[in-house]
Amino acid sequence: MKTQKPTTPLMEQYNKIKARYPDYIIFFRLGDFYEMFGDDAIISAPLLGVVLTQRQNIPMCGVPHHSAINYIKTLLSKGRKIAVCEQQESKSEKNLIDRDVVRLITPGTVWEENFVESGSNNFIVSIFVGDGEQSGFCAADISTGEIFISETESEKINSELSKIKPKEIILPEAFKNKDSKNIAVIFATAISYVPDWQFDESIALSEIKRFSGVNSWKPFGADGKTFAQKSLGGMLSYLKHIQFPDVSALLSRLRFKHQKKSVHLDSTALRTLEITSNIMTGGMENTIVEMLDCCITPAGSRLLKSWILEPLTDISEISKRHRAVEYFFEDAILRENLRNALKKIGDMERIVTRLATQSASSREIWHLGKSIKTSSEIKNEIIAEKAITLPFVVEDAVNSIDGLQEVVELIENSIDPESIGSGYIKTGYNSTLDEYRKISEDSRGLIVELEKKEKERTKINSLKIGYTSVFGYYIEITKSNLHLVPQDYVRKQTLANAERFVVSGLSEMEKKIYYASQKIESLEKELLSEIRTKILNHREKILTIAHAIATIDVISNFAFVSKKNGWIKPEVNSDEAIDIKGSRHPVVERKLNSGEFVPNDINLDSSENQILIITGPNMAGKSTYLRQVAILVILAQSGCFIPASSAKIGVVDKIFTRIGSSDNLAGGESTFMVEMTEAANILRNLSPRSLLILDEIGRGTSTFDGISIAQATIEYLHEAGSESHRPKVLFATHYFELTDLAQNLPRVKNFNVKVSEWKNEIVFLHKILPGAADKSYGIHVAKIAGIPDGIVSRSKQILSELRNQSNNLAKRELPREQMDFEDFIIFDKLKKMDINKITPLEAHKILADMMGKTKTEER
Ligand code: ATP
Repeated sequence: MKTQKPTTPLMEQYNKIKARYPDYIIFFRLGDFYEMFGDDAIISAPLLGVVLTQRQNIPMCGVPHHSAINYIKTLLSKGRKIAVCEQQESKSEKNLIDRDVVRLITPGTVWEENFVESGSNNFIVSIFVGDGEQSGFCAADISTGEIFISETESEKINSELSKIKPKEIILPEAFKNKDSKNIAVIFATAISYVPDWQFDESIALSEIKRFSGVNSWKPFGADGKTFAQKSLGGMLSYLKHIQFPDVSALLSRLRFKHQKKSVHLDSTALRTLEITSNIMTGGMENTIVEMLDCCITPAGSRLLKSWILEPLTDISEISKRHRAVEYFFEDAILRENLRNALKKIGDMERIVTRLATQSASSREIWHLGKSIKTSSEIKNEIIAEKAITLPFVVEDAVNSIDGLQEVVELIENSIDPESIGSGYIKTGYNSTLDEYRKISEDSRGLIVELEKKEKERTKINSLKIGYTSVFGYYIEITKSNLHLVPQDYVRKQTLANAERFVVSGLSEMEKKIYYASQKIESLEKELLSEIRTKILNHREKILTIAHAIATIDVISNFAFVSKKNGWIKPEVNSDEAIDIKGSRHPVVERKLNSGEFVPNDINLDSSENQILIITGPNMAGKSTYLRQVAILVILAQSGCFIPASSAKIGVVDKIFTRIGSSDNLAGGESTFMVEMTEAANILRNLSPRSLLILDEIGRGTSTFDGISIAQATIEYLHEAGSESHRPKVLFATHYFELTDLAQNLPRVKNFNVKVSEWKNEIVFLHKILPGAADKSYGIHVAKIAGIPDGIVSRSKQILSELRNQSNNLAKRELPREQMDFEDFIIFDKLKKMDINKITPLEAHKILADMMGKTKTEER
């Protein structure tokens, strides 16, 4: 901070507090404002849109305390942490009001409705980076009470984080200034540090024991999972640091999450398929989740995201979900009634957290009661109404809905939903409260009577009894009537046109009313707190109901979206083929007019159609086609129906994508480096049941290097896996040379996207057909895009010159740099050949192969 040394006692007080919370923005309460000083002010003023001023040469800005929530929310959304520093009752020796931090608010540990998005989780993640291949992590959503620990290969941590989208990441201090900066940039999130030694499994276990009495990792399924245990240690230490009040409840929901049960989707696949965020804007628009999420409840929206991010690999679980979706798909009335009923259900998970932090309002409690009641209605009156057997997932969900009559009655008998402010506890719930209310009401009645009596006694018709919080009750007499004021009136206040008096009896009544209203206020608070605690005794059951309702919401939502868009039930089986007829890209289709999207078939297997090389002009629809295949597999294995006319999908366990070009300049990687890193990751982690979407490989470097890498990759993939199961590959490219591979590699097939030419213009037909494309039409697309005519015609001229040159070169004997591609491949093979290591028979075969190639050329 480039400022003069502060001298005032106030700034000394501020500096002491700031020194305790260096990485927090201090909201320092001064009267009706929260002020920020120094670097805090410099950072916050532009983010909050407030004026940056100075106080004794120290930068400063402030926000009114009554609207602080909105400002805090803005800072949290920018990944900032806030320490709220309030004025205390006491004063220091220097007659300065004492101040202290009363709450640490961080992006990942908030639970209030104002600070969290309703349909999304608000995760904080703590990561313990192991000594080698494995790492542990703990993810908690404080606002819903969800918490799990897990272990994964260290290099997959980023993929896990892309799914969880944490608002805050906790790392050991040893990571300060190292990789954490990169993590913060990638995930645009707050990073917090905990001393390394606090990532400790015994700290975690002793906290579990302290809160739940359990002294073992076994019940959580985390026995021997030391890295996961250590990450929980880091999480709990941090929660202690921010003084999170409800660790006990959080730990009661702790579980170890196994990694292997869902389709492996890494961060690149999630990004390029635009599952949860738009690749251009980072927002939700035009993503799969945005298109798919018509859930009615916030918990449903959150569950839907987790299902889509973790498609299942267990065929029977997948088909259970499909059957459940079908149940709602086929019955429009049931679907409609259910979705209407769901509208009455609130965010039970988050209300439970607010009950535990004693911050749930009376209205929220009332809404919880209504939600539980509606859940029973859904179970008994809507779903079970139907006489047929329920599909397993629906039956399982409805069976876990407990009517919780006790809780519903408690809430109905105690909470008055209509009251705003006090009066939220119903009459009849507590006799003491009722008595005080009676006293208060009676006294008010007595005051009305007194006013009437005094009017009669003084004959002053305009006499009135009023109240101010400063002076209490008074009798007001206008100036013109002052001569009628009786002797026993005592003057209290003089106004411009009137005088205010008190009279014996009025003060007594005031005391009574004041005392009663104080009592009412404190008793209502006490009773509300008691009600919260009583409801919390049923926490587990409420959370089970919440989960059941979220499941029903997601399933019926899948049915709703599928019906609306004409989707069909896919079959996911253990075969090795993917055979989808009439497939469509759900988001691209939605953006076009009805009927404009051209459906395409896809047929992949391990015997003949393992690798499809797709060529075609720019803008023809290659990328759309590639992505839609991956998206449809994700939808199908998440349990949803899919946009197609029929589908049989051999279950996929990993989806990889390598699409387009992007660079990671912040991470120090060029475009080609990113491309190669992604390709390397795919090739290293490949499995026989993988689905690979490769939209150009080797485009970011020189043509020969690029083609060589692309061809070698295809050859490698062609041999990967076993005879029965091979990774399936869709490979889009503009390198026409690669289409020759289909001649030698039996499982490679060529496809192209059809275009038609009419009067020198091209028409995109978007139809995928067998065979290789003949032209690239790049210049046509440049023209459509608005490249000036002069450049377009000059490009055509250069193109025809280049074609002529290449024909001439092919006819001559060429130096190495000028060889065409086939010659280069043959030359390269000969150069690498070690004649001492091959048999005469092998040499004969290689020569025959090469001659076969030249023969093809000559023809
Ligand atoms: P490039 O080679 O330049 O990357 P591409 O062949 O990958 O182009 P896409 O990006 O997939 O082309 O598609 C271009 C546009 O064509 C899409 O934005 C969409 O509007 C339209 N399109 C793609 N597929 C279809 C289809 N099957 N039916 C109708 N329109 C389509």
